[in-house]
Amino acid sequence: MQGLMMDVPLTVTGILRHARLNHPEQQVVSITADHPRHRYTYGEAFARSAQLANALDRLQLPAGARIATLAWNDFRHLELFYAVACAGRILHTVNPRLLPEQIAWIINDAGATMLFAAPEFAPLLAKLTPHLVHVRTIVFMTGPAHLPPASPAPLLADARCYEQLLAGEPPEFNWPDLDERTACSLCYTSGTTGHPKGVLYSHRSTVLHAMAAAGADVMGVTARDGVLPVVPMFHVNAWGIPFIVPMTGGKLVLPGRGAGDPATLVDLINTERVTVALGVPTVWLALLQYLAATGVRLPSLKRTVVGGAACPQAVIDEFRDRHGVETHHAWGMTETSPLGTFNSPKPGQEKLPLEAARALQAKQGRSVFGVEMRIVGDDGHELPRDGRTFGSLQVRGPFVASGYYGMEKSDVHTVDGWFDTGDVATIDPDGYMQITDRTKDVIKSGGEWISSIELENHTVGHPAVAEAAVIGVAHPKWSERPLLIVVLKPGETVSRDDLLAFLAGKVASWWVPDDVVFVPEIPHTGTGKINKIQLREQYRDHLKKE
Ligand code: ADP
Repeated sequence: MQGLMMDVPLTVTGILRHARLNHPEQQVVSITADHPRHRYTYGEAFARSAQLANALDRLQLPAGARIATLAWNDFRHLELFYAVACAGRILHTVNPRLLPEQIAWIINDAGATMLFAAPEFAPLLAKLTPHLVHVRTIVFMTGPAHLPPASPAPLLADARCYEQLLAGEPPEFNWPDLDERTACSLCYTSGTTGHPKGVLYSHRSTVLHAMAAAGADVMGVTARDGVLPVVPMFHVNAWGIPFIVPMTGGKLVLPGRGAGDPATLVDLINTERVTVALGVPTVWLALLQYLAATGVRLPSLKRTVVGGAACPQAVIDEFRDRHGVETHHAWGMTETSPLGTFNSPKPGQEKLPLEAARALQAKQGRSVFGVEMRIVGDDGHELPRDGRTFGSLQVRGPFVASGYYGMEKSDVHTVDGWFDTGDVATIDPDGYMQITDRTKDVIKSGGEWISSIELENHTVGHPAVAEAAVIGVAHPKWSERPLLIVVLKPGETVSRDDLLAFLAGKVASWWVPDDVVFVPEIPHTGTGKINKIQLREQYRDHLKKE
């Protein structure tokens, strides 16, 4: 039809052009092995992305080539995000915390032909390279002075140096006009069951996700914000932050390996005047413990965004009461780019009485624009949005995966076009969704469901508890009963009976776990979640023994 709006494709290249033109002076700060505090501007970042794209052309990598990374959040990783995607290739971020055989499996499944790695992963690479099928070139993301020692392992003898690859390349690149349906990045779900599965993002889905996530009632990032993604860039593109922040012109603060160290994070927040920080609950639990122990404050920080696992109430309370920081609960998955819901108040909800506010903030939030949600029962029928009935959570939208990379069939997509998340949830009349469990973690006691997440949240509210996990273990009468596994804070004590009495006042009596096990450490998966599969294995017979 004549006069219709311009059909300009939505591409990551558009974000690059926008930031380079409008925010060239804004800073990107990072920590790498060779730079304790690296600092440059978006202008320089995107000039170096152009240099890298020129180098990749020189190496004759074809369009659509998968380029893998094993790297932390830092400036070189950011350059790769843009250099690879905007030249029509696919950035394949891989989680270095997975087991070597899982990493090799994922890189082979993706068919990656080139691999960029932080130099500290040299020992890991020596184990990996004999199993890599398609990779021809490895590049260490550092300068010549910081290359790891030579290794006889396959591919490593000829490994290249990132800074040498860029040296002499022109800082301009003739970015191609891409179709917005071109793939730009590939992430694998952590595969807590079966093999990991690849989720292939398009330029269009990436831009739409970034626009939706940037909104004021969502991450609310502005050109005046300093944003710290503690969530790794290999974990669903750090929740889209490397696209959202350049799009809005905010300052990007990338913690590198410091993401695992509360002292480094606190120092970055305070010296770089970070206003928004994002990460999984375990990060904040450790950070809050550090703050409590040292008495350090966070004057610049306004908001934290917590997702990836249910956020304990204690985290929200402590950020609010001790630091005046608002905590927003968010939910998402690799398959949803990842943002699906975000918790921000509606009119009239900003000043609720404390208990009502806490109950609301514990929910995972309302749909972001672009993600439709419904809950369904076992028969596939939609269930009421009454805040009580729980069912399988299904979603659809332009940044939800339609299937998995290289797989013809998906058993988690419905015939009517919805993706079954594998989460069990309620949705209330205001549209707030609350996860009660993952389908496979639900505890079925005498045919009734018990929410492990709710029990865990109450438990970490106890002042002596550092971390808690609740699993279902076999029981002769009830088929399954909850078992509580607890890590205490250093120097704290609480008895089994006192802890159970603490819970008894907070949940239905039959929800109270049958026993408590105190452990020095709870196992986590490669994405930092409690490894319930391992715990279930370990404590399978715990109640039978009694
Ligand atoms: P994986 O599915 O491989 O563990 P994802 O990062 O895709 O990796 O994890 C998505 C899952 O994480 C969701 O399906 C949900 O079970 C859980 N999750 C994410 N955010 C939250 C949250 N805020 N509260 C509870 N669970 C969450």
